[in-house]
Amino acid sequence: MRFPDFSRRQFLTTLATAAGSAFVPNFLSASPLQDPVVDATKKDGETVSREKVPWKARPFPMKQVRLGDGPCKRAMEADGRYLHSLPPDRLLHTFRINAGLPSSAQPLGGWEAPDCELRGHYAGGHYLSACALMYASTGDEELRSNANAIVAELGKCQANLEAGGYLSAFPVEFFDRLRNRERVWAPFYTIHKIMAGCLDMYVHCGNEQALDITEKMAGWVAGYTGPLSYDHMQRILGTEFGGMGEVLCNLYAVTGRQHYLEVAQRFDKKVFFDPLAAHRDELKGLHVNTHIPQVIAAARYYELTGERRYRDIAEYFWDEVVSERSYCTGGTSNGESWNTDPGKLSTELSTNTTECCCAYNMMKLTRHLFGWTPDARLMDYYERAMFNHRLGTINPEDGTMMYYLPLASGYWKTFGKPFDSLWCCTGTGSEEYAKLTDTIYFHDDESLYVNLYIDSDLNWPEKGLRVRQETRFPEQQGTTLIVTAQTPTPLAINLRIPYWAQGGSVRINGATLPAFSSPSSYLTLNRDWKTGDKVEINLPMGLHVDPMPDDATIQAMMYGPLVLAGRFEAVGKDLQYGDYEPKNHPPIKVPDILADANRPTAWVEPDAKESLTFHATGQSQPVTMVPLYQIIRERYAVYWKVNTKSA
Ligand SMILES: [Zn+2]
Repeated sequence: MRFPDFSRRQFLTTLATAAGSAFVPNFLSASPLQDPVVDATKKDGETVSREKVPWKARPFPMKQVRLGDGPCKRAMEADGRYLHSLPPDRLLHTFRINAGLPSSAQPLGGWEAPDCELRGHYAGGHYLSACALMYASTGDEELRSNANAIVAELGKCQANLEAGGYLSAFPVEFFDRLRNRERVWAPFYTIHKIMAGCLDMYVHCGNEQALDITEKMAGWVAGYTGPLSYDHMQRILGTEFGGMGEVLCNLYAVTGRQHYLEVAQRFDKKVFFDPLAAHRDELKGLHVNTHIPQVIAAARYYELTGERRYRDIAEYFWDEVVSERSYCTGGTSNGESWNTDPGKLSTELSTNTTECCCAYNMMKLTRHLFGWTPDARLMDYYERAMFNHRLGTINPEDGTMMYYLPLASGYWKTFGKPFDSLWCCTGTGSEEYAKLTDTIYFHDDESLYVNLYIDSDLNWPEKGLRVRQETRFPEQQGTTLIVTAQTPTPLAINLRIPYWAQGGSVRINGATLPAFSSPSSYLTLNRDWKTGDKVEINLPMGLHVDPMPDDATIQAMMYGPLVLAGRFEAVGKDLQYGDYEPKNHPPIKVPDILADANRPTAWVEPDAKESLTFHATGQSQPVTMVPLYQIIRERYAVYWKVNTKSA
């Protein structure tokens, strides 16, 4: 009863045709409560945690990390401008209409349009999460205030719906269709987004009403799912339901009400989890972005119950997707699905490769695994996805997002329209660039992990410590840390030595250390840190090829962490906006590459003046190559057909 022939966008098109148409009340609070995945909550001055398996390394509250100048901050600011541009009354329109409340606002379009079955997913879900995260990352009071206003109005809608806690922008009858296995898009997927948005408003902005709304919604979910037989519920799980399990776990973690854990487990999809628990890759044919959030739910379930099976599911899944089903960018999926056996990727390059939501969710899952075992390999992946798939899929001008990042050659990037797209990927993108502060640094009681090289400031009041990270990475091949300490503070600072580092060195207060660490590990600097202490790390980048696992003649070229893309002619604005992928215009022909069999990177040479700019040499036509994230308007090529000659 699933609709395997319908991707989301096909489903939307079909429908259109058929239709003819607090705990942290302010920034001064020292409360550690900041993120549903690290939910040590403060209650009456006591820290309460429901984690059976606490993370060994934990992130800092986002309000303790601030971005400095660089590509990440620019992406965050573009996201902020987009969030500020959305009028609350337009966001609320379909919720009010659905609840029988008056609204004269102009409806939004795209996936928020009044006839779209996913309406509400962004307006009452992602938008709230994004505002809450942006508030945590920047202290943006206006966004918090706008989001608080939305929560208050959602509360009125929920009260007016009189359906036992139900809250949505579409009628509850959608759930009758779901129960009867009649065609409906993804009602639980949408409910998850709204619950997660409200819970984020509670966690990051201290909005107590948002928690109350979430709990009432959970009560409705429990009432709907409770009477269903196990087999009936399993059939319902054939319709996309996203992170229902995750948000219910998080709600348990925040409230301590055991019942939510039991409801969460009703969303365990047996045919998906069983093979993963047995370490079997049966992912072929699955819709990618509906399944990654289920694994995040498994990770949460493991953390809250200690049941090892859920950890096995999460770790096996991550390994398999990252090593067998991901491209050089860290992205995964083609046409929203895994269409092939493991390791078969060379035939999958298309305009529909690598949906942005999938990168968002894989990065989110990675943080859980890193919390359990702080392994540099996990952050190597995180950096790869961050610098190649996430930076560069937000439009720096207006903060609009991409849906697919095409990996077929000769195409271009397409962005949504500000008020008339509002896709799933608009939603996850709005969240992503609002939480770029959440992974740069992790810590435990005795050590600091510097995971990502991003210009930023860390404030660690429990240690009386501040760390300024100064870098122009990735233009700069390394970073500098400058410490301010109230008193000399013993601490191990763990610096990630990335997989791509070609040697490297570290200096403390000008003196070079005699030792260094191998790639994909953490270099530990253990000492009493004093104000003015300065750590300079040099991480030389070099060219390296990233060949397809099943066809070594199809290769991407990388420089350090960066995927280099051939940059070709620019497209006009008409082609740049509006659709999930480039279409109605053929690709340009991209040359095959002739390379030396023994020196596979020798055909690429750095530009004499411009940093991070390269040129192909000895080819049939000139090609300039730059980091994929820097390309916004031009046609590009990531994977090349490489023919070899022996010198
Ligand atoms: Zn998406």
